[in-house]
Amino acid sequence: MDLELNKQAILTRIAKACEASGRSPASVRLIWVSKTQPVSAVESAIALGARDFGENRVQEALEKFLPQREGIVCRIIGPVQKNKLRKALQVAQAIDTVADLESVNKLEALCEEAGKNLEILFQVNASEEATKSGLSMQEALDFLSSLPEPKRLVYKGLMTIGKNTGNPEDSRACFAFLRNLRDKLFNSQPKFKDFTELSMGMTDDLEIAIAEGSTMARVGTALFGRR
Ligand SMILES: *Cc1c(COP(=O)(O)O)cnc(C)c1O
Repeated sequence: MDLELNKQAILTRIAKACEASGRSPASVRLIWVSKTQPVSAVESAIALGARDFGENRVQEALEKFLPQREGIVCRIIGPVQKNKLRKALQVAQAIDTVADLESVNKLEALCEEAGKNLEILFQVNASEEATKSGLSMQEALDFLSSLPEPKRLVYKGLMTIGKNTGNPEDSRACFAFLRNLRDKLFNSQPKFKDFTELSMGMTDDLEIAIAEGSTMARVGTALFGRR
């Protein structure tokens, strides 16, 4: 496994996908998904210029991303139990899987207590697969529209995981749904003034996700190898 070659290959895929849809490559951030990888892999990635990392589990993030390194962002991209939100806030600059009001309120209170700000993305289960968490497509608009005004939190956008069918085209409708929902909210209420991000696309479907507007590609396997 050659991390540098893998990085180049992914940046090329991102650049080509951007070009194909008339977007700037700078409009897609690469999130290095370092789950299950040792801290040495994180260090190697940082040496190659990686800045944004995604971890699924809070405990693993604490082990690898504390103490915080200057300029390095740890995003939580797996569901977080309510009793782990406090720990998540210790290590993460962003939680991308928020999907219920109690977690929003709890994070707001924890941020206030810690004097911190936190970016959040709301996860939508746009593939409607029972194994995935997130807001249902039917409830998402109403739920998000009725959220409280953020104080310490910054409502940044939406996250989804595409369909796991083996054919990335099958995820296109999920990604398009997310883009439309993001646009609707961004244009609707002041609390969504920062609602610009779409975290969608992974190793197998990042081209489709970028064609549909992704601003964050979450890549694990194609960078670090099979888990
Ligand atoms: C593991 C994971 C990824 C990375 O998937 P790859 O197919 O390995 O690129 C992205 N997003 C989430 C939420 C994940 O759990």
